[in-house]
Amino acid sequence: MMVSDIFNQNVKFLITGGAGFIGSNLADYLLKSGSEVKVLDDLSNGRIENINYLKSKYDFEFIEGDIRDINICRKAVNGVDFVLHQAAWGSVPRSVRMPLVYDEVNVHGTLNMLEAAKENNIKKFVYASSSSVYGDEATLPKVEGKEGNPLSPYAITKKVNELYAKNYFELYGLETVGLRYFNVFGRRQDPHSTYAAVIPIFIRELLKDHAPVINGDGTQTRDFTYIDNVIEANLLACIAGEEASGEAFNIAYGKYITLNDLYHVICELLGKNIEPTYGKPRVGDISHSLADISKAKKLLNYDPEIDVFEGLSQTMEWYVDNLSSK
Ligand code: NAD
Repeated sequence: MMVSDIFNQNVKFLITGGAGFIGSNLADYLLKSGSEVKVLDDLSNGRIENINYLKSKYDFEFIEGDIRDINICRKAVNGVDFVLHQAAWGSVPRSVRMPLVYDEVNVHGTLNMLEAAKENNIKKFVYASSSSVYGDEATLPKVEGKEGNPLSPYAITKKVNELYAKNYFELYGLETVGLRYFNVFGRRQDPHSTYAAVIPIFIRELLKDHAPVINGDGTQTRDFTYIDNVIEANLLACIAGEEASGEAFNIAYGKYITLNDLYHVICELLGKNIEPTYGKPRVGDISHSLADISKAKKLLNYDPEIDVFEGLSQTMEWYVDNLSSK
């Protein structure tokens, strides 16, 4: 089965966290492709502008609600074929300060979603995990099956999600597929949040002619993953064979870049010549991140096309348009 075949079958998707960065990009893509879509989001971090933007172009159901409420999850899952579960609290540093909320939303909320999906015979439950599950495992590239101890409450919640998802497949036959995203970037990634990711922060500050702060010495590496590769991975996970069920996969590009090099690429794209300042390393952060994507290549046919340079040049226009006036 090809990804395009899915759109000829009149299927309906539920996207949790669909007002957020990744979820709204998934919704946009699926709606554009003619699929039926429902979005569930409590707008705790997502933006109503993302929903209004989609509403102005397409007809779809938006449920404003919290995945901590099992009845909301049941209502959202009812009548859908595929669940793309993205809703969660992100940010490692915030999880260090607020572990209880992370447990309630990311663990209990995901368990509610799994339970609701099980009751409704969902075809596939695809959910967002994270590269943070590798924790203190130093081996590079990161490969599935070789995880260390999680370094933050956020990482623990993602690890527990994977355990429950595997268990729901083994016990109840719910076909779950976990996607361990590695530093996703692209249009609609919130640049204004206190917990914004590094790429939007660099661009936001440089557009104001401010020197951004790099936490640590900038030699830390990341495998930045462009949003379109993540969309592709979610759709491939929906059509994957049963051998992918209960499993979790690295979703990345498969190459790394240091934060210093990333910074200079962004400066070049923006035509800026500003030296960054350096701050303390962040608690709970990992030093290096690079994914082995062969498992996803083999079982999902995942073959990412857009690298960090191409992704940045495609995205820069969006950031400039959305940040210049703020
Ligand atoms: P985001 O914050 O933009 O989106 C998450 C969405 O979930 C938000 O719209 C938020 O309002 C919603 N949400 C939060 N709590 C909720 C609740 N209790 N009920 C209903 N909705 C709720 O984040 P994102 O970057 O789009 O991340 C999507 C998923 O991918 C998350 O699970 C995140 O942990 C995971 N992830 C993201 C990255 C990345 O680089 N962006 C990396 C690894 C994993």
